[in-house]
Amino acid sequence: MKYDVILKNAGILDEAGFFTPEKHVLIFAGKIMEITDKWEEEWEAVEIIDASDLVISPGFVNLHTHSPMNLLRGLAEDVNIDDWFNKEIWPYESKMNEENAYAGALAACCEMLHHGVTAFADHYMFGEQVIKAVQETGIRCDFAPTVFGVSPNFNKDLESALQLIEKHQRTNPALSFRLGPHAPYTCPPETLKKIVDEAKGLEVGLHIHLSETEQQLKESLSTYGKTPFQMLSEAGGFELPLIIAHGLWITEKDLHFLEDQSYMAVSPKTYLKLAMGSGKLWQYWDQLPLTSGTDGAASSNSLDPLEQVRYFGLMGKHITGNAEKFNMKNLWKILMRGHSALPFESGKMGPGYVADLICWNLNSVMVSPVYDPLATILYSADHSNIEHVMVNGKWMKRDGSLTLDEGMAQLLLRKNVKDVMAKGKGKAQLTF
Ligand SMILES: [Zn+2]
Repeated sequence: MKYDVILKNAGILDEAGFFTPEKHVLIFAGKIMEITDKWEEEWEAVEIIDASDLVISPGFVNLHTHSPMNLLRGLAEDVNIDDWFNKEIWPYESKMNEENAYAGALAACCEMLHHGVTAFADHYMFGEQVIKAVQETGIRCDFAPTVFGVSPNFNKDLESALQLIEKHQRTNPALSFRLGPHAPYTCPPETLKKIVDEAKGLEVGLHIHLSETEQQLKESLSTYGKTPFQMLSEAGGFELPLIIAHGLWITEKDLHFLEDQSYMAVSPKTYLKLAMGSGKLWQYWDQLPLTSGTDGAASSNSLDPLEQVRYFGLMGKHITGNAEKFNMKNLWKILMRGHSALPFESGKMGPGYVADLICWNLNSVMVSPVYDPLATILYSADHSNIEHVMVNGKWMKRDGSLTLDEGMAQLLLRKNVKDVMAKGKGKAQLTF
Protein backbone atom coordinates (compact mmCIF):
# COMPACT_ATOMS: atom_id res chain seq x y z
CA MET A 1 0.00 0.00 0.00
CA LYS A 2 1.22 3.48 -0.81
CA TYR A 3 0.51 6.14 1.84
CA ASP A 4 0.21 9.88 1.23
CA VAL A 5 2.41 10.94 4.13
CA ILE A 6 4.47 9.09 6.72
CA LEU A 7 5.75 11.05 9.71
CA LYS A 8 8.72 8.96 10.78
CA ASN A 9 10.03 8.74 14.36
CA ALA A 10 7.69 11.44 15.67
CA GLY A 11 6.96 12.24 19.29
CA ILE A 12 3.22 11.94 19.89
CA LEU A 13 1.29 14.13 22.32
CA ASP A 14 -2.13 12.52 22.36
CA GLU A 15 -5.55 13.97 23.14
CA ALA A 16 -5.22 13.04 26.82
CA GLY A 17 -1.87 14.85 27.12
CA PHE A 18 0.33 11.73 27.22
CA PHE A 19 3.63 11.80 25.37
CA THR A 20 5.28 8.84 23.62
CA PRO A 21 8.48 9.15 21.57
CA GLU A 22 9.50 7.56 18.26
CA LYS A 23 6.26 6.61 16.59
CA HIS A 24 5.46 6.45 12.89
CA VAL A 25 2.23 8.11 11.75
CA LEU A 26 0.78 6.74 8.51
CA ILE A 27 -1.66 8.98 6.65
CA PHE A 28 -3.82 8.15 3.65
CA ALA A 29 -6.85 9.85 2.05
CA GLY A 30 -7.07 12.46 4.80
CA LYS A 31 -7.06 9.95 7.67
CA ILE A 32 -4.65 8.51 10.19
CA MET A 33 -4.32 4.85 9.17
CA GLU A 34 -1.94 3.69 11.85
CA ILE A 35 0.42 4.91 14.57
CA THR A 36 3.11 2.36 15.36
CA ASP A 37 6.68 2.01 16.61
CA LYS A 38 7.59 -0.75 14.14
CA TRP A 39 9.08 0.45 10.88
CA GLU A 40 8.36 -1.67 7.80
CA GLU A 41 10.89 -1.43 4.95
CA GLU A 42 8.24 -2.05 2.28
CA TRP A 43 6.21 1.01 3.23
CA GLU A 44 5.90 3.57 0.45
CA ALA A 45 4.53 7.09 0.57
CA VAL A 46 4.30 10.19 -1.58
CA GLU A 47 6.16 11.94 1.23
CA ILE A 48 8.19 10.46 4.10
CA ILE A 49 9.14 13.11 6.65
CA ASP A 50 11.84 12.66 9.26
CA ALA A 51 9.85 13.86 12.28
CA SER A 52 12.42 12.83 14.89
CA ASP A 53 12.68 16.40 16.18
CA LEU A 54 8.93 17.10 16.03
CA VAL A 55 6.04 16.55 18.44
CA ILE A 56 2.71 15.73 16.78
CA SER A 57 -0.58 16.58 18.46
CA PRO A 58 -4.19 16.88 17.30
CA GLY A 59 -5.05 20.29 15.87
CA PHE A 60 -6.82 22.89 18.02
CA VAL A 61 -10.48 23.88 17.87
CA ASN A 62 -11.62 27.46 18.34
CA LEU A 63 -15.21 26.88 19.46
CA HIS A 64 -16.37 30.48 19.47
CA THR A 65 -15.32 33.34 17.25
CA HIS A 66 -16.66 35.99 14.88
CA SER A 67 -14.17 35.69 12.03
CA PRO A 68 -14.97 38.90 10.05
CA MET A 69 -14.17 40.92 13.19
CA ASN A 70 -10.46 40.55 12.39
CA LEU A 71 -11.10 43.82 10.53
CA LEU A 72 -11.61 45.59 13.87
CA ARG A 73 -8.72 44.15 15.88
CA GLY A 74 -7.21 46.78 18.18
CA LEU A 75 -9.80 49.42 17.31
CA ALA A 76 -11.24 49.84 20.80
CA GLU A 77 -8.96 49.40 23.81
CA ASP A 78 -9.19 50.51 27.45
CA VAL A 79 -12.96 50.88 27.48
CA ASN A 80 -15.67 49.10 29.47
CA ILE A 81 -17.78 46.46 27.77
CA ASP A 82 -20.86 48.62 27.13
CA ASP A 83 -18.86 51.38 25.48
CA TRP A 84 -16.67 48.84 23.73
CA PHE A 85 -19.67 47.36 21.93
CA ASN A 86 -22.22 50.15 21.61
CA LYS A 87 -19.94 53.16 21.12
CA GLU A 88 -16.81 51.73 19.54
CA ILE A 89 -17.40 48.43 17.70
CA TRP A 90 -21.05 48.05 16.67
CA PRO A 91 -21.27 51.44 14.87
CA TYR A 92 -18.57 50.20 12.45
CA GLU A 93 -19.59 46.58 12.47
CA SER A 94 -23.21 47.31 11.57
CA LYS A 95 -22.05 49.01 8.36
CA MET A 96 -19.83 46.20 7.12
CA ASN A 97 -20.55 44.98 3.60
CA GLU A 98 -19.92 41.62 1.97
CA GLU A 99 -16.41 42.39 0.77
CA ASN A 100 -15.41 43.75 4.20
CA ALA A 101 -16.69 40.58 5.87
CA TYR A 102 -14.91 38.31 3.38
CA ALA A 103 -11.58 40.13 3.93
CA GLY A 104 -11.92 39.81 7.71
CA ALA A 105 -12.89 36.14 7.55
CA LEU A 106 -10.04 35.28 5.18
CA ALA A 107 -7.50 36.98 7.47
CA ALA A 108 -9.01 35.14 10.46
CA CYS A 109 -8.70 31.75 8.72
CA CYS A 110 -5.03 32.52 7.95
CA GLU A 111 -4.36 33.57 11.53
CA MET A 112 -6.05 30.48 12.97
CA LEU A 113 -4.08 28.12 10.72
CA HIS A 114 -0.87 29.73 12.01
CA HIS A 115 -2.05 28.99 15.57
CA GLY A 116 -2.71 25.34 14.73
CA VAL A 117 -6.50 25.70 14.60
CA THR A 118 -7.86 23.02 12.28
CA ALA A 119 -11.57 23.69 12.97
CA PHE A 120 -13.52 26.65 14.29
CA ALA A 121 -17.10 27.51 15.20
CA ASP A 122 -18.11 30.87 13.79
CA HIS A 123 -21.08 33.01 14.81
CA TYR A 124 -21.78 35.84 12.39
CA MET A 125 -23.75 37.38 9.58
CA PHE A 126 -22.38 37.20 5.98
CA GLY A 127 -22.46 33.41 5.79
CA GLU A 128 -21.66 33.22 2.07
CA GLN A 129 -18.50 35.29 2.56
CA VAL A 130 -17.29 33.24 5.54
CA ILE A 131 -17.99 30.01 3.66
CA LYS A 132 -16.01 31.33 0.68
CA ALA A 133 -13.01 32.13 2.90
CA VAL A 134 -13.25 28.74 4.60
CA GLN A 135 -13.39 26.85 1.31
CA GLU A 136 -10.48 28.79 -0.14
CA THR A 137 -8.25 28.15 2.86
CA GLY A 138 -9.14 24.52 3.62
CA ILE A 139 -9.78 24.99 7.35
CA ARG A 140 -12.90 23.33 8.84
CA CYS A 141 -15.79 25.47 10.03
CA ASP A 142 -19.05 25.03 11.89
CA PHE A 143 -20.99 28.11 10.88
CA ALA A 144 -23.93 29.61 12.79
CA PRO A 145 -25.67 32.51 11.03
CA THR A 146 -26.37 35.14 13.70
CA VAL A 147 -30.03 36.06 14.19
CA PHE A 148 -31.29 38.90 16.41
CA GLY A 149 -34.85 38.41 17.69
CA VAL A 150 -35.13 42.15 18.45
CA SER A 151 -34.33 43.12 14.87
CA PRO A 152 -37.22 44.60 12.84
CA ASN A 153 -36.12 42.17 10.10
CA PHE A 154 -36.21 39.10 12.36
CA ASN A 155 -38.45 36.92 10.15
CA LYS A 156 -36.53 37.77 7.00
CA ASP A 157 -33.16 37.22 8.69
CA LEU A 158 -34.24 33.85 10.06
CA GLU A 159 -35.49 32.82 6.63
CA SER A 160 -32.13 33.79 5.05
CA ALA A 161 -30.28 31.82 7.74
CA LEU A 162 -32.38 28.74 6.99
CA GLN A 163 -31.81 29.13 3.26
CA LEU A 164 -28.05 29.44 3.75
CA ILE A 165 -27.98 26.21 5.77
CA GLU A 166 -30.22 24.32 3.33
CA LYS A 167 -28.05 25.44 0.41
CA HIS A 168 -24.67 24.45 1.88
CA GLN A 169 -25.46 21.65 4.32
CA ARG A 170 -23.76 18.39 3.34
CA THR A 171 -22.01 19.97 0.32
CA ASN A 172 -18.54 19.85 1.89
CA PRO A 173 -17.35 17.51 4.66
CA ALA A 174 -15.26 20.38 6.10
CA LEU A 175 -18.38 22.48 6.74
CA SER A 176 -21.18 22.06 9.23
CA PHE A 177 -23.99 24.34 10.35
CA ARG A 178 -26.19 25.32 13.25
CA LEU A 179 -28.44 28.28 14.00
CA GLY A 180 -27.02 31.26 15.88
CA PRO A 181 -29.57 33.13 18.01
CA HIS A 182 -27.44 35.98 19.35
CA ALA A 183 -28.48 35.72 23.02
CA PRO A 184 -31.65 35.59 25.17
CA TYR A 185 -31.38 39.35 25.87
CA THR A 186 -31.50 40.10 22.12
CA CYS A 187 -33.96 37.29 21.30
CA PRO A 188 -37.24 37.67 23.25
CA PRO A 189 -38.84 34.32 24.28
CA GLU A 190 -41.15 33.88 21.29
CA THR A 191 -38.32 34.53 18.81
CA LEU A 192 -35.91 32.25 20.68
CA LYS A 193 -38.52 29.47 20.64
CA LYS A 194 -39.06 29.98 16.92
CA ILE A 195 -35.31 29.67 16.22
CA VAL A 196 -35.04 26.53 18.37
CA ASP A 197 -38.03 24.97 16.56
CA GLU A 198 -36.51 25.74 13.16
CA ALA A 199 -33.19 24.18 14.28
CA LYS A 200 -35.07 21.05 15.34
CA GLY A 201 -36.81 20.93 11.96
CA LEU A 202 -33.51 21.22 10.12
CA GLU A 203 -31.79 18.78 12.52
CA VAL A 204 -29.02 21.22 13.34
CA GLY A 205 -27.74 22.50 16.67
CA LEU A 206 -27.46 25.96 18.21
CA HIS A 207 -24.63 28.36 18.99
CA ILE A 208 -25.65 31.13 21.41
CA HIS A 209 -24.19 33.67 23.88
CA LEU A 210 -25.43 33.00 27.44
CA SER A 211 -24.84 34.93 30.68
CA GLU A 212 -21.83 36.72 29.26
CA THR A 213 -22.00 39.60 31.75
CA GLU A 214 -23.36 40.05 35.27
CA GLN A 215 -25.66 42.77 33.94
CA GLN A 216 -27.25 40.33 31.46
CA LEU A 217 -27.91 37.90 34.32
CA LYS A 218 -29.42 40.62 36.55
CA GLU A 219 -31.63 42.06 33.79
CA SER A 220 -32.88 38.61 32.83
CA LEU A 221 -33.79 37.93 36.48
CA SER A 222 -35.54 41.29 36.87
CA THR A 223 -37.43 41.10 33.54
CA TYR A 224 -38.38 37.41 33.47
CA GLY A 225 -37.46 36.08 36.92
CA LYS A 226 -35.29 33.56 35.08
CA THR A 227 -31.60 33.22 34.19
CA PRO A 228 -30.51 33.27 30.52
CA PHE A 229 -29.79 29.51 30.83
CA GLN A 230 -33.35 28.96 32.03
CA MET A 231 -34.72 31.09 29.17
CA LEU A 232 -32.91 28.85 26.68
CA SER A 233 -34.05 25.72 28.48
CA GLU A 234 -37.69 26.80 28.33
CA ALA A 235 -37.33 27.42 24.59
CA GLY A 236 -36.05 23.82 24.22
CA GLY A 237 -32.47 24.82 23.39
CA PHE A 238 -30.77 22.22 25.57
CA GLU A 239 -32.47 19.43 23.61
CA LEU A 240 -30.14 20.28 20.71
CA PRO A 241 -26.38 19.98 20.14
CA LEU A 242 -25.33 23.23 21.74
CA ILE A 243 -22.37 25.60 21.81
CA ILE A 244 -22.71 28.10 24.65
CA ALA A 245 -20.45 31.10 24.23
CA HIS A 246 -19.05 32.25 27.59
CA GLY A 247 -21.59 31.38 30.34
CA LEU A 248 -19.26 33.35 32.59
CA TRP A 249 -22.11 34.18 35.01
CA ILE A 250 -23.63 30.70 35.12
CA THR A 251 -25.42 30.03 38.44
CA GLU A 252 -25.51 26.86 40.51
CA LYS A 253 -29.11 26.21 39.44
CA ASP A 254 -28.11 26.51 35.77
CA LEU A 255 -25.77 23.50 36.06
CA HIS A 256 -28.61 21.00 35.75
CA PHE A 257 -29.69 22.41 32.36
CA LEU A 258 -26.45 21.16 30.78
CA GLU A 259 -26.77 17.99 28.70
CA ASP A 260 -24.22 15.59 27.18
CA GLN A 261 -24.37 17.50 23.90
CA SER A 262 -23.83 20.93 25.56
CA TYR A 263 -20.41 22.58 25.26
CA MET A 264 -19.22 25.89 26.69
CA ALA A 265 -16.58 27.95 24.88
CA VAL A 266 -14.76 30.30 27.25
CA SER A 267 -12.54 33.30 26.44
CA PRO A 268 -10.75 34.46 29.63
CA LYS A 269 -8.56 36.97 27.80
CA THR A 270 -11.67 38.91 26.79
CA TYR A 271 -13.07 38.75 30.35
CA LEU A 272 -9.82 40.12 31.74
CA LYS A 273 -9.44 42.86 29.16
CA LEU A 274 -13.02 44.12 29.35
CA ALA A 275 -13.09 43.79 33.17
CA MET A 276 -16.07 41.44 33.07
CA GLY A 277 -15.30 39.87 36.46
CA SER A 278 -14.47 36.26 37.17
CA GLY A 279 -18.09 35.07 37.24
CA LYS A 280 -18.60 31.49 38.35
CA LEU A 281 -16.52 29.57 35.80
CA TRP A 282 -13.67 28.92 38.21
CA GLN A 283 -16.07 27.89 40.96
CA TYR A 284 -17.90 25.22 38.91
CA TRP A 285 -15.22 24.51 36.31
CA ASP A 286 -14.93 20.77 36.97
CA GLN A 287 -18.71 20.36 36.43
CA LEU A 288 -18.70 22.31 33.16
CA PRO A 289 -18.14 21.03 29.58
CA LEU A 290 -15.47 23.66 28.98
CA THR A 291 -13.76 24.26 25.65
CA SER A 292 -11.63 27.07 24.32
CA GLY A 293 -13.03 29.91 22.23
CA THR A 294 -11.33 33.15 21.36
CA ASP A 295 -14.30 35.42 20.73
CA GLY A 296 -13.64 37.87 17.90
CA ALA A 297 -10.27 39.58 17.39
CA ALA A 298 -11.84 42.94 18.31
CA SER A 299 -12.19 41.81 21.94
CA SER A 300 -9.38 39.30 22.51
CA ASN A 301 -6.91 40.51 19.85
CA SER A 302 -5.77 37.04 18.83
CA LEU A 303 -7.51 33.88 17.63
CA ASP A 304 -5.34 31.51 19.62
CA PRO A 305 -7.22 28.86 21.66
CA LEU A 306 -3.98 27.86 23.43
CA GLU A 307 -3.54 31.38 24.79
CA GLN A 308 -7.12 31.36 26.14
CA VAL A 309 -6.59 28.08 27.98
CA ARG A 310 -3.32 29.37 29.41
CA TYR A 311 -5.20 32.37 30.83
CA PHE A 312 -7.93 30.07 32.11
CA GLY A 313 -5.47 27.92 34.06
CA LEU A 314 -3.47 30.83 35.44
CA MET A 315 -6.62 32.69 36.51
CA GLY A 316 -7.93 29.54 38.16
CA LYS A 317 -4.76 29.10 40.22
CA HIS A 318 -4.80 32.80 41.12
CA ILE A 319 -8.49 32.97 42.09
CA THR A 320 -8.49 29.79 44.16
CA GLY A 321 -5.03 30.34 45.65
CA ASN A 322 -4.30 26.71 44.85
CA ALA A 323 -1.47 25.96 42.42
CA GLU A 324 -2.30 22.25 42.40
CA LYS A 325 -5.66 22.88 40.72
CA PHE A 326 -6.14 23.49 37.00
CA ASN A 327 -3.38 21.02 36.22
CA MET A 328 -1.88 20.55 32.77
CA LYS A 329 -3.84 17.43 31.82
CA ASN A 330 -7.09 19.25 32.63
CA LEU A 331 -6.11 22.30 30.59
CA TRP A 332 -5.20 20.07 27.64
CA LYS A 333 -8.57 18.33 27.98
CA ILE A 334 -10.31 21.72 27.66
CA LEU A 335 -8.33 22.39 24.48
CA MET A 336 -9.18 18.99 23.00
CA ARG A 337 -12.84 18.83 24.05
CA GLY A 338 -13.88 21.21 21.26
CA HIS A 339 -13.40 18.37 18.77
CA SER A 340 -16.26 16.44 20.42
CA ALA A 341 -18.62 19.38 19.85
CA LEU A 342 -18.11 19.21 16.07
CA PRO A 343 -18.96 16.45 13.59
CA PHE A 344 -15.56 16.16 11.88
CA GLU A 345 -14.22 12.93 13.50
CA SER A 346 -11.15 14.83 14.56
CA GLY A 347 -9.15 15.25 17.75
CA LYS A 348 -7.73 11.81 18.44
CA MET A 349 -4.29 10.43 17.67
CA GLY A 350 -5.59 7.09 16.47
CA PRO A 351 -6.53 5.11 13.33
CA GLY A 352 -9.73 6.18 11.60
CA TYR A 353 -9.60 9.79 12.80
CA VAL A 354 -9.02 12.58 10.32
CA ALA A 355 -5.46 13.77 9.91
CA ASP A 356 -5.91 17.26 11.43
CA LEU A 357 -2.54 17.67 13.10
CA ILE A 358 -0.03 20.12 14.53
CA CYS A 359 3.71 19.40 14.17
CA TRP A 360 5.49 21.24 16.98
CA ASN A 361 9.15 22.19 16.80
CA LEU A 362 10.23 22.66 20.42
CA ASN A 363 13.94 22.95 19.72
CA SER A 364 14.38 26.72 19.96
CA VAL A 365 16.14 28.51 22.81
CA MET A 366 12.82 30.26 23.53
CA VAL A 367 11.26 27.06 24.89
CA SER A 368 14.25 24.84 25.81
CA PRO A 369 14.87 22.60 27.62
CA VAL A 370 11.87 20.32 27.19
CA TYR A 371 11.34 18.07 30.22
CA ASP A 372 7.68 17.53 29.38
CA PRO A 373 6.32 18.59 25.94
CA LEU A 374 2.91 19.26 27.49
CA ALA A 375 4.39 21.85 29.89
CA THR A 376 6.40 23.42 27.09
CA ILE A 377 3.37 23.76 24.83
CA LEU A 378 0.97 24.96 27.54
CA TYR A 379 3.26 27.48 29.17
CA SER A 380 6.04 28.49 26.74
CA ALA A 381 5.17 27.78 23.11
CA ASP A 382 3.32 29.92 20.57
CA HIS A 383 2.61 29.89 16.84
CA SER A 384 6.35 30.22 16.06
CA ASN A 385 6.83 26.69 17.45
CA ILE A 386 4.18 25.34 15.09
CA GLU A 387 6.24 24.15 12.16
CA HIS A 388 3.54 22.40 10.13
CA VAL A 389 -0.25 22.16 10.25
CA MET A 390 -2.26 19.52 8.42
CA VAL A 391 -6.01 19.52 7.80
CA ASN A 392 -7.61 16.44 6.27
CA GLY A 393 -4.18 15.07 5.32
CA LYS A 394 -3.19 18.26 3.44
CA TRP A 395 -0.50 20.73 4.49
CA MET A 396 -1.93 24.12 5.42
CA LYS A 397 1.24 25.39 7.08
CA ARG A 398 4.65 24.09 6.10
CA ASP A 399 8.02 25.09 7.55
CA GLY A 400 6.42 27.99 9.38
CA SER A 401 4.56 29.50 6.40
CA LEU A 402 1.03 29.02 5.17
CA THR A 403 0.72 27.12 1.89
CA LEU A 404 -1.89 29.63 0.64
CA ASP A 405 -1.33 33.22 -0.49
CA GLU A 406 -1.16 34.96 2.87
CA GLY A 407 0.19 38.19 1.32
CA MET A 408 -2.94 38.55 -0.77
CA ALA A 409 -5.12 38.08 2.32
CA GLN A 410 -3.15 40.77 4.14
CA LEU A 411 -3.48 43.25 1.25
CA LEU A 412 -7.21 42.65 1.04
CA LEU A 413 -7.56 43.18 4.78
CA ARG A 414 -5.75 46.55 4.62
CA LYS A 415 -7.89 47.73 1.72
CA ASN A 416 -11.08 46.83 3.56
CA VAL A 417 -9.96 48.37 6.85
CA LYS A 418 -9.61 51.66 4.96
CA ASP A 419 -13.06 51.21 3.51
CA VAL A 420 -14.68 50.50 6.90
CA MET A 421 -12.94 53.48 8.53
CA ALA A 422 -13.99 55.75 5.64
CA LYS A 423 -17.63 54.83 6.24
CA GLY A 424 -17.21 56.00 9.83
CA LYS A 425 -19.40 55.38 12.84
CA GLY A 426 -22.61 57.20 11.96
CA LYS A 427 -25.74 55.89 13.64
CA ALA A 428 -26.38 52.22 14.43
CA GLN A 429 -29.86 50.68 14.27
CA LEU A 430 -29.72 48.61 17.46
CA THR A 431 -28.37 49.19 20.93
CA PHE A 432 -27.38 46.31 23.22
ZN1 LIG B 1 -19.18 36.20 20.90
